[in-house]
Amino acid sequence: MSTRPSTEIRIPADLLPRDGRFGCGPSKVRPEAVEALAATGRSFLGTSHRQPTVKSVVGRLRAGLADLFGLPDGYQVALGNGGATVFWDIATFALIERRSQHLVFGEFSTKFAAAAAAAPFLDAPDLIESPPGSHPDARAVPGIDLYALTHNETSTGVMMSLGRPPGADPGALVAVDATSGAGGLAFDPAEVDAYYFAPQKCFGSDGGLWAALLSPGAVDRVRRIASSGRWVPASLDLAIALDNSALDQTYNTPALATLWLFADQVGWMLGKGGLGWCAARSSRSAETLYSWASASGYASPYVVKPDARSTVVGTIDLDASVAREADVCAALRANGIVDTESYRKLGRNQLRVGMFPNVDPDDVQALTHCIDYVVERLT
Ligand SMILES: *Cc1c(COP(=O)(O)O)cnc(C)c1O
Repeated sequence: MSTRPSTEIRIPADLLPRDGRFGCGPSKVRPEAVEALAATGRSFLGTSHRQPTVKSVVGRLRAGLADLFGLPDGYQVALGNGGATVFWDIATFALIERRSQHLVFGEFSTKFAAAAAAAPFLDAPDLIESPPGSHPDARAVPGIDLYALTHNETSTGVMMSLGRPPGADPGALVAVDATSGAGGLAFDPAEVDAYYFAPQKCFGSDGGLWAALLSPGAVDRVRRIASSGRWVPASLDLAIALDNSALDQTYNTPALATLWLFADQVGWMLGKGGLGWCAARSSRSAETLYSWASASGYASPYVVKPDARSTVVGTIDLDASVAREADVCAALRANGIVDTESYRKLGRNQLRVGMFPNVDPDDVQALTHCIDYVVERLT
């Protein structure tokens, strides 16, 4: 290997992607959205979230999400502060009645399982684990009242299809952490009861909010637990969040820029053709990335099973005798291509590429050419 620092490699301008942001969250925000937000001038930022100016944006966002996901009658869109991580605590307090089952297959799914396991008012959860790079399947167990799935495990680039486990107790809920999958992966909303996410991934907004699509069964569960006498801190009380959401508000003050960008993105997605269009665009990026890696002499898709390879977060192993992740990522970064680093705790010689709907599939193609260019000069 060359002793020259990889950051001295200059990638020719005609190989570079038009936008070099490939992170998995915060992810690429559309520059037009930022400009449109700036153009609101004095009329939106810095105004009260209890007045129609902001409430109408929340209303547009909630209606847009219901439309984007084709929500069946009776499903509700709730919003609150704290991101997906806080929603795990909310679900622990307000959605799990006695015992949950968790599919554990990476960093994020592990965290919700840990939150439920630590709750003194719940029975020990049933954990089904599988090695990183794969996903387990839910299996019905009597007494389980909430099945916790993850649409896309962002730490490993594994996606799974969503469905109710056959034979589950009547009334058991399916809760899905969809933080990196929502808006980029198709699914049937009738198969889920709580589909929750934060908007800094496919929704190209900023972090700090959570959104949840809740079925009538989930809403009933929330109301029943709220009236059961269980102590629930107000900021984690999903019943309070539902009441505020119905009024197009959040319980406490939200980040207005995040809300605005989120609503704008949902409008953009609907204007392009909705969830089908978004999922197809991400699939096109994924096809480009994985076929390049499969044909490459030094790169290969990390996820073995093709149908588990995420179409929104691509993980690509590198042959360490040819290229080290740190050198490749540093060279890319020095050329304006950022956040291709792998999830650190996974500990692999790997690149991770966000392929959310905002990312142009042509830019993913350009990225593969840039990686080849860098690796040729490293060896
Ligand atoms: C990013 C991510 C989270 C964490 O989201 P925060 O908004 O930072 O709490 C949780 N789950 C998944 C699957 C994610 O991709």
